[in-house]
Amino acid sequence: MSFRWSLAAAYFGIAVCGCRAASSTETMTPLTRAELSGFQETSRYEEVRAFITALTARTPHARVEIFGQTEEGRDLPLLVIGDPPASSRVRDTPSRLPVVLVIANIHAGEVEGKEAVLHLARRLTLGNLQPLLRSAVWLFVPIYNADGNERVSLENRSEQYGPIGGVGTRENARGLDLNRDFMKLESSEARALVGLLTRWDPDVIVDLHTTNGSYHGYHLTYAPPLNPNTDTGITAFARERLLPSIRSAMAARHRLRTYDYGNFSTSASLDEELEGFAPGDTRQKVWRTFDARPRFGGSYVGLRNRIAILSEAYSYVDFEKRIQATEAFVEEIMRFVGDNATDIRTLITRADAEWSGRDTPVEGGVAFALRPLPQPVDILVGAVETQMNARSGKPMRAMVGNVTPTSMIVYDGFVSKETRPVPREYVVRASSNGLHETVARKLREHGILVETTDVPSRRSVDQFAIAQVRHAERAFQGHNETSVTGRFERRQVEVPAGSLVVRTTQPLGRLVFYLLEPESDDGLTTWNVFDSALAAGGIHPVLKVVP
Ligand SMILES: [Zn+2]
Repeated sequence: MSFRWSLAAAYFGIAVCGCRAASSTETMTPLTRAELSGFQETSRYEEVRAFITALTARTPHARVEIFGQTEEGRDLPLLVIGDPPASSRVRDTPSRLPVVLVIANIHAGEVEGKEAVLHLARRLTLGNLQPLLRSAVWLFVPIYNADGNERVSLENRSEQYGPIGGVGTRENARGLDLNRDFMKLESSEARALVGLLTRWDPDVIVDLHTTNGSYHGYHLTYAPPLNPNTDTGITAFARERLLPSIRSAMAARHRLRTYDYGNFSTSASLDEELEGFAPGDTRQKVWRTFDARPRFGGSYVGLRNRIAILSEAYSYVDFEKRIQATEAFVEEIMRFVGDNATDIRTLITRADAEWSGRDTPVEGGVAFALRPLPQPVDILVGAVETQMNARSGKPMRAMVGNVTPTSMIVYDGFVSKETRPVPREYVVRASSNGLHETVARKLREHGILVETTDVPSRRSVDQFAIAQVRHAERAFQGHNETSVTGRFERRQVEVPAGSLVVRTTQPLGRLVFYLLEPESDDGLTTWNVFDSALAAGGIHPVLKVVP
């Protein structure tokens, strides 16, 4: 299917294809490039724009806004759907609708989410999901890593089971992984997305991916926020109510197997990852989740007191079925949110108020360890066979029928290994090097409230006396990550006018702690913001105010 033809067909809503019908719906237009090509190709940026333009021309229940630009200057579209589609953030009243944001294509080699949200937008406005129109404010980001999407190549993710016409790159145009950029916010895409989180304040965020790695037996795996510093009510709601309910619905209504995201291993060490286990392998078998750090979107959203769900369609299921599985997963989340709107609103209001209004001391984690479930679980081990990609001539891997339940230790969460007291306020003193201004800008990009002192004062603080500064040997995302060791000491210090005061008694207080606490494993210290001011024997620039 030529680019020009599919674009025209999508735009004019002509159902012309001689290929297979739309994945899970009646034939409805506009159609995606995936549908028009018989699921051999994925939509390009202009096709996504044409699809949503054609859709919004056909319904009053969807509109498009631009929430930012990519590094290469492409407008980033947000589809807003509802009856009527909301024009801005919903005011917090006892009857407000929940706001749900679905992000697709953060990794532009993992493209089924992009096709799935276009299908869902069509079904929500014109098809069988119309009853959900009034259940929530639906926000869809169909093509987040738009620059990466346009770098389609047969070389990218060539072992994935289609689309055989190739996919884009994982990274954005600057080589940054957008799902490692939530704390440092270096890409224009991540700053735009976090700006969207601040402006629209979605209650539930779903982030759509495709797996790499282990040959398991699930069509899709998922994860709740993983960081132990997340509000326990948010984590429990996602882990114990939402996800089990979706898992049941996926089995009952769609005949699809789902479970908590993981990879095979023989230990809790994150260094070892196995594709599978040979028959007769008697080693201890482990199913292990990934990482608790909030550089990943799911844990980042959790620290903002919102419900995040990671979705990982299985790479070795064919492209059409991956779209179907992703679409079914989001559809079931949408139904769940519609049925549980009051509980979600209550949960989130409570999480924001409780942290802001706390009157007893709290601790926050700075180092974490994997936590096993108390009992082994029968995890489905799968297998793959080789299929040839007719266009690239390269081998692809395809899931084969049999799955084998195999008893394993499951590490699906984390616990804090070390904690530090959370202060009510952090202070960063004004200085001639302008460091406090850099910190203020970074915090404000996250939507955090930052205040500036008008007059000099003398404050009692816990300051971090640095014993050692370490920089990681290997660069990651262009950074040699920094960590510090040392100890806190209580002092009276002068705080000049113009210094920053950042309260943790605000709705984003958990994020404030993670970004500023000197020993945080994913804070501004980690990402080199303070490097020029860190030296053994010195004092860390972030001070913790003693009440
Ligand atoms: Zn991904």
